Amino acid sequence: MIFDVLTLFPEMIQSIVSESIIGRAIQNGYLTVNCVQIRDFSSDKHRRVDDYPYGGGDGMVMQPEPIWEAYQSVLKTCEEKPRFIYLSPQGKLLTQELAKELSKEPRLVLLCGHYEGVDERVLEMTAAEEISIGNYVLTGGELPAAILIDAVGRMVPGVLAADTCFENESLYDGLLEYPQYTRPPEYMGYEVPEILREGHHKKIEEWRLTESLKRTLKKRPELLEGRELTKEEAKILERLKTDN
Ligand code: SAM
Repeated sequence: MIFDVLTLFPEMIQSIVSESIIGRAIQNGYLTVNCVQIRDFSSDKHRRVDDYPYGGGDGMVMQPEPIWEAYQSVLKTCEEKPRFIYLSPQGKLLTQELAKELSKEPRLVLLCGHYEGVDERVLEMTAAEEISIGNYVLTGGELPAAILIDAVGRMVPGVLAADTCFENESLYDGLLEYPQYTRPPEYMGYEVPEILREGHHKKIEEWRLTESLKRTLKKRPELLEGRELTKEEAKILERLKTDN
């Protein structure tokens, strides 16, 4: 999968995505992260890319021309028109569901804003899809872009050892993951649950589902609203609710 990132701070993106699992996936050819320096497309002799806002107010606004030209330079290299995403606090929230959907795309173009944001016209001209990583405001779109690349990229086949690595995790199927333990079996008086050490796979599966439902009910009950429960889940939930 290819991510083209239009940014004024390519080093910020590269320094994050070149590490760990995403870094290895890039080295092994499962992912490509191509950073495009928007400043390279400025027609200003000082390579300026921002200006004062019309109507007054604080801060600077990124001009439409360098962004449009940077976007065109990417489009020239695409066989099909990719989805164009502007990372913005005004966008729809990035959820696991949305990340899963985006991971099926062959290519995404991401625009990182800075300062007061970008001139509205370029968002209209590109029909940009706006995505937010949370209900708070950051100084720039680089961290949000890196977060999107991580959340989406890890679900691209080959990036993790197996699809079950992300399918069994919190939120993928709408539940929180069960508690995880590793060695030693006892640490400072705290023990790993007996059932996990017995090697009875069916019992472990049942325990994990129960724990998963238990912590979803406790920590994120809203995730259970409107969920189509399997018979087994309904039975366990009933029991958990009466136990409380
Ligand atoms: N003036 C803008 C507003 O009020 O909507 C905020 C601009 S913000 C200071 C600068 C840039 O950071 C934005 O253009 C966007 O790219 C990025 N950004 C900030 N918060 C974000 C968030 N929660 N999700 C995604 N991008 C964000």
